[in-house]
Amino acid sequence: MSNSDSKSNTGSFSQTNDSPSGSQSPNEGGTENNHRVHRFVSNDFAVRVASVNATDVVAKMQQLQQTRPLPTVAVGRSMVGALLMASQLKEGQEVGVLVQGEGPLSRVYAHADFHGRVRGYVNVPQYEPASYSSVLSLQEAIGGGMLTVVRHQPFQRQPYQGTVPLVSGEIGDDIAFYLHQSQQIRSVTSLGVFLDTYGRVEAAGGVIVEVMPGVEDNIIDKIEENQKKASREISKMIREKKSPLELVQPYLDGIPFTEIPHPHYIEYSCPCSAERVKNALTILGLEELDDMIAKQEKSHIVCQMCGRPYELSIEDIQNVRNALYKSSLH
Ligand SMILES: [Zn+2]
Repeated sequence: MSNSDSKSNTGSFSQTNDSPSGSQSPNEGGTENNHRVHRFVSNDFAVRVASVNATDVVAKMQQLQQTRPLPTVAVGRSMVGALLMASQLKEGQEVGVLVQGEGPLSRVYAHADFHGRVRGYVNVPQYEPASYSSVLSLQEAIGGGMLTVVRHQPFQRQPYQGTVPLVSGEIGDDIAFYLHQSQQIRSVTSLGVFLDTYGRVEAAGGVIVEVMPGVEDNIIDKIEENQKKASREISKMIREKKSPLELVQPYLDGIPFTEIPHPHYIEYSCPCSAERVKNALTILGLEELDDMIAKQEKSHIVCQMCGRPYELSIEDIQNVRNALYKSSLH
Protein backbone atom coordinates (compact mmCIF):
# COMPACT_ATOMS: atom_id res chain seq x y z
CA MET A 1 0.00 0.00 0.00
CA SER A 2 1.54 3.27 -0.94
CA ASN A 3 0.73 6.70 0.30
CA SER A 4 -0.16 9.72 -1.66
CA ASP A 5 0.50 12.96 0.10
CA SER A 6 -1.71 15.92 -0.13
CA LYS A 7 0.05 18.67 -1.96
CA SER A 8 -1.37 21.85 -3.27
CA ASN A 9 -0.80 25.17 -4.80
CA THR A 10 -3.81 27.33 -5.26
CA GLY A 11 -4.79 30.91 -5.15
CA SER A 12 -3.76 34.30 -6.37
CA PHE A 13 -2.77 37.53 -4.77
CA SER A 14 -4.37 40.62 -3.40
CA GLN A 15 -3.48 43.30 -0.90
CA THR A 16 -4.16 42.67 2.71
CA ASN A 17 -1.66 42.74 5.46
CA ASP A 18 -0.83 39.70 7.50
CA SER A 19 2.88 39.89 7.95
CA PRO A 20 4.75 37.53 10.21
CA SER A 21 6.13 38.89 13.41
CA GLY A 22 8.60 37.69 15.96
CA SER A 23 12.26 37.89 16.61
CA GLN A 24 14.82 36.10 14.52
CA SER A 25 17.50 33.64 15.38
CA PRO A 26 20.46 32.46 13.38
CA ASN A 27 19.57 29.92 10.75
CA GLU A 28 19.83 26.58 12.43
CA GLY A 29 19.02 23.10 11.34
CA GLY A 30 16.88 21.88 14.18
CA THR A 31 18.01 18.30 13.79
CA GLU A 32 18.17 18.03 17.57
CA ASN A 33 14.44 17.50 17.91
CA ASN A 34 11.81 16.64 15.36
CA HIS A 35 8.86 17.03 17.63
CA ARG A 36 8.13 20.70 17.46
CA VAL A 37 6.63 22.80 14.75
CA HIS A 38 9.59 24.59 13.22
CA ARG A 39 8.86 28.02 11.79
CA PHE A 40 10.85 29.91 9.24
CA VAL A 41 10.50 33.24 7.50
CA SER A 42 12.17 34.59 4.38
CA ASN A 43 14.52 37.42 5.21
CA ASP A 44 12.25 39.88 3.40
CA PHE A 45 9.21 38.60 5.38
CA ALA A 46 7.39 37.76 2.16
CA VAL A 47 7.21 34.04 2.80
CA ARG A 48 6.56 32.17 6.01
CA VAL A 49 7.02 28.45 6.38
CA ALA A 50 6.35 25.82 9.00
CA SER A 51 7.26 22.14 9.13
CA VAL A 52 6.51 19.41 11.60
CA ASN A 53 7.19 15.76 12.25
CA ALA A 54 3.93 14.65 13.80
CA THR A 55 4.53 10.90 13.72
CA ASP A 56 4.12 10.42 17.47
CA VAL A 57 0.87 12.34 17.87
CA VAL A 58 -0.77 10.76 14.83
CA ALA A 59 0.32 7.31 16.03
CA LYS A 60 -1.17 8.14 19.43
CA MET A 61 -4.47 9.07 17.80
CA GLN A 62 -4.47 5.78 15.92
CA GLN A 63 -3.71 3.84 19.07
CA LEU A 64 -6.58 5.51 20.95
CA GLN A 65 -9.16 5.16 18.23
CA GLN A 66 -7.95 2.04 16.44
CA THR A 67 -8.40 3.81 13.12
CA ARG A 68 -8.20 1.88 9.84
CA PRO A 69 -5.89 3.17 7.07
CA LEU A 70 -8.09 5.76 5.34
CA PRO A 71 -9.51 7.27 8.53
CA THR A 72 -5.94 7.39 9.90
CA VAL A 73 -4.73 9.34 6.89
CA ALA A 74 -7.72 11.68 7.05
CA VAL A 75 -7.35 12.50 10.74
CA GLY A 76 -3.56 12.54 10.53
CA ARG A 77 -3.46 15.06 7.71
CA SER A 78 -6.04 17.21 9.49
CA MET A 79 -3.98 17.12 12.69
CA VAL A 80 -0.83 18.11 10.80
CA GLY A 81 -2.68 20.93 9.04
CA ALA A 82 -4.09 22.18 12.34
CA LEU A 83 -0.66 22.07 14.01
CA LEU A 84 0.97 24.00 11.17
CA MET A 85 -1.75 26.65 11.09
CA ALA A 86 -1.85 26.99 14.86
CA SER A 87 1.89 27.63 14.99
CA GLN A 88 1.37 30.75 12.87
CA LEU A 89 -1.18 32.19 15.26
CA LYS A 90 -0.40 34.10 18.41
CA GLU A 91 0.27 32.91 21.91
CA GLY A 92 -2.78 31.19 23.38
CA GLN A 93 -4.71 30.89 20.13
CA GLU A 94 -6.23 27.67 18.86
CA VAL A 95 -7.40 26.35 15.53
CA GLY A 96 -10.01 23.72 14.70
CA VAL A 97 -10.21 22.01 11.32
CA LEU A 98 -13.55 20.39 10.56
CA VAL A 99 -14.05 18.40 7.37
CA GLN A 100 -17.70 17.62 6.74
CA GLY A 101 -17.82 15.30 3.79
CA GLU A 102 -20.66 13.58 2.01
CA GLY A 103 -18.61 10.37 1.76
CA PRO A 104 -18.50 7.45 4.21
CA LEU A 105 -16.03 9.11 6.64
CA SER A 106 -18.63 11.80 7.32
CA ARG A 107 -16.82 14.09 9.77
CA VAL A 108 -13.13 14.51 10.46
CA TYR A 109 -12.00 16.94 13.12
CA ALA A 110 -8.65 18.15 14.37
CA HIS A 111 -7.77 20.77 16.92
CA ALA A 112 -4.38 22.30 17.72
CA ASP A 113 -3.07 25.24 19.65
CA PHE A 114 -0.08 27.55 19.43
CA HIS A 115 1.67 25.51 22.12
CA GLY A 116 1.60 22.30 20.09
CA ARG A 117 -1.25 20.50 21.79
CA VAL A 118 -3.26 18.60 19.20
CA ARG A 119 -6.08 16.08 18.96
CA GLY A 120 -8.10 14.52 16.19
CA TYR A 121 -11.29 12.59 15.70
CA VAL A 122 -13.18 10.83 12.94
CA ASN A 123 -16.81 9.71 12.96
CA VAL A 124 -16.15 6.35 11.35
CA PRO A 125 -12.73 5.11 12.53
CA GLN A 126 -13.37 1.60 11.23
CA TYR A 127 -14.17 2.61 7.67
CA GLU A 128 -12.62 0.42 4.97
CA PRO A 129 -13.25 0.89 1.26
CA ALA A 130 -14.53 -2.06 -0.76
CA SER A 131 -11.06 -2.29 -2.25
CA TYR A 132 -7.82 -0.40 -1.81
CA SER A 133 -6.22 1.17 -4.83
CA SER A 134 -2.44 1.25 -5.00
CA VAL A 135 -2.49 4.81 -3.70
CA LEU A 136 -4.37 5.89 -0.59
CA SER A 137 -6.62 8.68 -1.72
CA LEU A 138 -9.18 10.32 0.51
CA GLN A 139 -11.33 11.68 -2.28
CA GLU A 140 -13.95 8.96 -2.25
CA ALA A 141 -13.92 8.43 1.51
CA ILE A 142 -14.53 12.11 2.16
CA GLY A 143 -16.43 13.06 -0.98
CA GLY A 144 -17.69 16.57 -1.59
CA GLY A 145 -18.57 18.76 1.33
CA MET A 146 -17.28 21.64 3.38
CA LEU A 147 -14.14 22.60 5.26
CA THR A 148 -14.54 24.84 8.27
CA VAL A 149 -11.60 26.41 10.04
CA VAL A 150 -12.26 27.94 13.43
CA ARG A 151 -9.79 30.17 15.22
CA HIS A 152 -10.30 30.73 18.91
CA GLN A 153 -8.66 33.55 20.74
CA PRO A 154 -8.54 33.77 24.49
CA PHE A 155 -10.79 36.49 25.92
CA GLN A 156 -12.80 36.63 22.73
CA ARG A 157 -16.32 35.40 22.94
CA GLN A 158 -16.87 34.72 19.27
CA PRO A 159 -14.36 32.53 17.45
CA TYR A 160 -13.36 33.52 13.94
CA GLN A 161 -14.78 30.98 11.55
CA GLY A 162 -14.51 30.41 7.81
CA THR A 163 -16.11 27.75 5.65
CA VAL A 164 -15.20 26.82 2.09
CA PRO A 165 -16.32 23.99 -0.17
CA LEU A 166 -13.94 21.04 -0.35
CA VAL A 167 -11.98 21.35 -3.58
CA SER A 168 -10.30 17.96 -3.45
CA GLY A 169 -11.04 16.10 -0.23
CA GLU A 170 -7.31 15.40 0.20
CA ILE A 171 -7.25 18.05 2.97
CA GLY A 172 -3.96 19.78 2.01
CA ASP A 173 -5.49 21.32 -1.10
CA ASP A 174 -8.57 22.19 0.86
CA ILE A 175 -6.62 24.03 3.54
CA ALA A 176 -4.72 25.91 0.83
CA PHE A 177 -8.02 26.89 -0.77
CA TYR A 178 -9.31 28.07 2.59
CA LEU A 179 -6.19 30.17 3.23
CA HIS A 180 -6.59 31.84 -0.10
CA GLN A 181 -10.33 32.41 0.09
CA SER A 182 -10.37 33.49 3.65
CA GLN A 183 -7.04 35.21 4.20
CA GLN A 184 -5.75 36.00 0.69
CA ILE A 185 -2.71 33.85 1.41
CA ARG A 186 -1.38 31.73 -1.40
CA SER A 187 0.22 28.57 -0.11
CA VAL A 188 1.86 25.29 -0.86
CA THR A 189 0.54 22.79 1.66
CA SER A 190 2.01 19.29 1.86
CA LEU A 191 0.50 17.02 4.49
CA GLY A 192 1.45 13.37 4.67
CA VAL A 193 0.83 10.19 6.62
CA PHE A 194 2.86 7.10 5.77
CA LEU A 195 1.48 3.73 6.85
CA ASP A 196 3.39 0.47 7.09
CA THR A 197 2.13 -2.72 5.48
CA TYR A 198 -0.10 -3.36 8.52
CA GLY A 199 -1.70 0.05 8.18
CA ARG A 200 0.08 1.48 11.20
CA VAL A 201 1.44 5.01 11.26
CA GLU A 202 5.10 4.97 10.37
CA ALA A 203 5.57 8.66 9.59
CA ALA A 204 3.40 11.75 9.58
CA GLY A 205 4.02 15.42 9.14
CA GLY A 206 3.96 18.28 6.75
CA VAL A 207 5.12 21.60 5.42
CA ILE A 208 3.17 24.74 4.76
CA VAL A 209 4.66 27.56 2.69
CA GLU A 210 2.60 30.73 2.81
CA VAL A 211 3.23 33.69 0.57
CA MET A 212 2.02 36.90 2.10
CA PRO A 213 -0.51 38.98 0.20
CA GLY A 214 1.00 41.63 -2.06
CA VAL A 215 4.30 39.91 -2.64
CA GLU A 216 6.08 40.53 -5.93
CA ASP A 217 5.74 38.00 -8.69
CA ASN A 218 9.38 36.92 -8.88
CA ILE A 219 9.20 35.33 -5.41
CA ILE A 220 6.01 33.54 -6.35
CA ASP A 221 7.57 32.26 -9.57
CA LYS A 222 10.56 31.05 -7.60
CA ILE A 223 8.44 29.08 -5.12
CA GLU A 224 6.35 27.54 -7.86
CA GLU A 225 9.52 26.52 -9.64
CA ASN A 226 10.87 25.05 -6.40
CA GLN A 227 7.62 23.22 -5.77
CA LYS A 228 7.83 21.53 -9.14
CA LYS A 229 11.38 20.41 -8.41
CA ALA A 230 10.49 19.32 -4.87
CA SER A 231 8.34 16.45 -5.98
CA ARG A 232 9.28 14.15 -3.08
CA GLU A 233 6.40 13.09 -0.94
CA ILE A 234 6.60 14.70 2.45
CA SER A 235 5.68 11.57 4.41
CA LYS A 236 8.56 9.70 2.79
CA MET A 237 10.98 12.48 3.70
CA ILE A 238 9.81 12.28 7.30
CA ARG A 239 10.15 8.53 7.20
CA GLU A 240 13.76 9.07 6.14
CA LYS A 241 14.21 11.24 9.24
CA LYS A 242 14.89 14.45 7.35
CA SER A 243 15.33 17.39 9.68
CA PRO A 244 12.74 20.19 9.86
CA LEU A 245 15.15 22.35 7.90
CA GLU A 246 15.64 19.69 5.23
CA LEU A 247 11.88 19.44 4.87
CA VAL A 248 11.48 23.12 4.01
CA GLN A 249 14.72 23.73 2.12
CA PRO A 250 13.51 22.41 -1.25
CA TYR A 251 10.69 24.95 -1.26
CA LEU A 252 12.96 27.86 -0.35
CA ASP A 253 15.80 27.20 -2.76
CA GLY A 254 17.32 30.59 -3.65
CA ILE A 255 15.32 32.44 -1.00
CA PRO A 256 17.30 33.48 2.10
CA PHE A 257 15.42 32.58 5.26
CA THR A 258 15.73 32.37 9.02
CA GLU A 259 14.22 30.13 11.66
CA ILE A 260 11.87 31.77 14.15
CA PRO A 261 12.08 30.27 17.63
CA HIS A 262 9.00 28.24 18.48
CA PRO A 263 9.97 26.22 21.54
CA HIS A 264 6.75 24.24 22.01
CA TYR A 265 6.82 20.47 21.96
CA ILE A 266 3.88 18.88 20.26
CA GLU A 267 1.74 16.46 22.23
CA TYR A 268 -1.55 14.62 21.86
CA SER A 269 -3.82 16.39 24.27
CA CYS A 270 -7.50 16.69 25.02
CA PRO A 271 -9.13 18.41 27.98
CA CYS A 272 -11.27 15.34 28.65
CA SER A 273 -10.96 13.33 31.89
CA ALA A 274 -12.88 10.61 33.70
CA GLU A 275 -14.34 13.35 35.87
CA ARG A 276 -15.66 15.28 32.87
CA VAL A 277 -17.09 12.14 31.38
CA LYS A 278 -18.95 11.40 34.61
CA ASN A 279 -20.30 14.93 34.67
CA ALA A 280 -21.44 14.51 31.09
CA LEU A 281 -23.42 11.41 32.12
CA THR A 282 -25.81 13.54 34.18
CA ILE A 283 -27.35 14.66 30.91
CA LEU A 284 -28.98 11.23 30.66
CA GLY A 285 -31.22 12.05 33.60
CA LEU A 286 -32.30 10.02 36.63
CA GLU A 287 -34.57 7.62 34.83
CA GLU A 288 -31.99 6.44 32.35
CA LEU A 289 -29.25 6.23 34.98
CA ASP A 290 -31.53 4.13 37.20
CA ASP A 291 -32.20 1.92 34.24
CA MET A 292 -28.46 1.41 33.64
CA ILE A 293 -27.95 0.56 37.29
CA ALA A 294 -30.87 -1.88 37.28
CA LYS A 295 -29.45 -3.62 34.25
CA GLN A 296 -25.97 -3.61 35.85
CA GLU A 297 -24.67 -2.02 32.66
CA LYS A 298 -21.10 -0.87 32.69
CA SER A 299 -20.72 2.16 30.52
CA HIS A 300 -18.25 2.51 27.69
CA ILE A 301 -17.96 6.11 26.72
CA VAL A 302 -15.73 7.53 24.04
CA CYS A 303 -14.67 11.16 24.17
CA GLN A 304 -16.14 12.83 21.11
CA MET A 305 -13.20 15.20 20.89
CA CYS A 306 -10.28 12.81 20.89
CA GLY A 307 -11.58 9.26 20.79
CA ARG A 308 -10.20 8.34 24.19
CA PRO A 309 -12.25 5.48 25.65
CA TYR A 310 -13.56 5.56 29.20
CA GLU A 311 -15.16 2.76 31.12
CA LEU A 312 -17.45 3.61 34.01
CA SER A 313 -18.33 1.00 36.61
CA ILE A 314 -21.78 0.51 38.10
CA GLU A 315 -20.41 2.23 41.17
CA ASP A 316 -19.40 5.28 39.12
CA ILE A 317 -22.85 5.41 37.59
CA GLN A 318 -24.42 5.04 41.01
CA ASN A 319 -22.38 8.00 42.26
CA VAL A 320 -23.37 10.13 39.29
CA ARG A 321 -26.98 9.15 39.87
CA ASN A 322 -26.84 9.99 43.57
CA ALA A 323 -25.22 13.37 42.95
CA LEU A 324 -27.84 14.15 40.34
CA TYR A 325 -30.62 13.10 42.71
CA LYS A 326 -29.22 15.29 45.47
CA SER A 327 -28.96 18.33 43.26
CA SER A 328 -32.53 17.76 42.04
CA LEU A 329 -33.76 18.18 45.63
CA HIS A 330 -32.44 21.72 45.92
ZN1 LIG B 1 -10.92 13.70 24.82
